[in-house]
Amino acid sequence: MRCSKFYLGGLMALAMAFPSAMFFSSASRAQSLDITSLDITSLITQTAPFSISKYNRLVEGLWPEARARGISRATFDRAFAGVVPDPGVLRKAAKQPEFTTPPWHYINKRVSEKRIGNGLEKLAEFEGLLDRIEARYGVDRYVVVAIWGMESSYGFILDDRKIVKPVIQSLSTLAFYGRSKRRKKFGRKQLLAALQILEARDTTPDRMLGSWAGAMGHTQFIPTTYLAYAVDFDGDGRRDIWDNVADALGSTAHYLKKSGWKTGQTWGYEVKLPRGFNYGLTGRRNARTLAQWSTLGVGRVSAKTFPRPTDKAWLVTLAGARGPAFLMLKNFRSILRYNNATSYAVAVGHLADRLRGGGPFVQPWPEGDRLLGREKRKDLQRLLRARGFGISAIDGKIGPNTRKAIRAYQSRVGLVPDGFATKALLDRLLHSS
Ligand code: CA
Repeated sequence: MRCSKFYLGGLMALAMAFPSAMFFSSASRAQSLDITSLDITSLITQTAPFSISKYNRLVEGLWPEARARGISRATFDRAFAGVVPDPGVLRKAAKQPEFTTPPWHYINKRVSEKRIGNGLEKLAEFEGLLDRIEARYGVDRYVVVAIWGMESSYGFILDDRKIVKPVIQSLSTLAFYGRSKRRKKFGRKQLLAALQILEARDTTPDRMLGSWAGAMGHTQFIPTTYLAYAVDFDGDGRRDIWDNVADALGSTAHYLKKSGWKTGQTWGYEVKLPRGFNYGLTGRRNARTLAQWSTLGVGRVSAKTFPRPTDKAWLVTLAGARGPAFLMLKNFRSILRYNNATSYAVAVGHLADRLRGGGPFVQPWPEGDRLLGREKRKDLQRLLRARGFGISAIDGKIGPNTRKAIRAYQSRVGLVPDGFATKALLDRLLHSS
């Protein structure tokens, strides 16, 4: 979600970032059941001519709650001066994420040669600052810079007003006109937190810019995350993640540290799986020590050994048996706290490794594979159920239960049982009896 397509990807990621923003991804998924493009069109025409007097009444209705939080009338009035609802925010909120985007498209686009090159320049430009950040928080500079690159292209997108919007405008639109109770609640909570930030004079309403969902500045913190984790790294008395790189990167490192970052450790390893590997062992439920993984024949692609064999790790494959496989360590969980999407966290880890001088993944992605949209995933589930494989719900979600059924089917017909749902697999089910 950025410039513009690229940035848009980032904003989607941002919408999924942080526990509170995860609401967006789940809310969007829920909506996909009942919204058609026609509904979205009528929604937009309904909301386009906002009544400004009604908006002003809604703003005034927020005042008692704002006052109770210690926000002054002067801050409140300044925050809403000239603000009108933004139908563009509701359009973005109603947009359905395309869940059939293959993970390799997402990752390759975000870890591009251009982004690696720009990141290397930023590492050189901010070397002294990154030394100080590492010294204070013990968080690897390459990961901090990788998150910066993923979230805002190292700040390049922040002056593009087509993408970056005034936060009070976006959040008040969500709070007052959001389509669901959850979305309104999210908007209201973040709006009040944004007013607290303005009350503290950390920034001004005209510089308080962010995504349609209120993720702000170089590293895209939503207001509640900002209140909890942003730091005044350069010590000028303001926590300025919008216009101050030291504060933005310091805040990211602080957040990762608070999310359990282990100094001196990596996020995970690309690994080779042995022939006949049991793909039922993927996922966090099957975490075990690196020594145990070695016993199962799982080793690093580099042929190096695991430095801390007693560390626990879990196995991730994003594209089945023919794509790269990874063992994830504790620091991967810290990156997931930033944005709870596995593809996002793999992209951050990989970009960090590339900035450190590492190469591309050893195992290529199965670029020719085609993935299934929700309806096709339901078809797949119906066909598996019809053949007697245990499918608990026809919900279009490929969870552990569906993967298990896929593996059982793959085993029966002599395919590698990796549980990966592709169009080729669906075709095979459709055309075999
Ligand atoms: Ca500062």
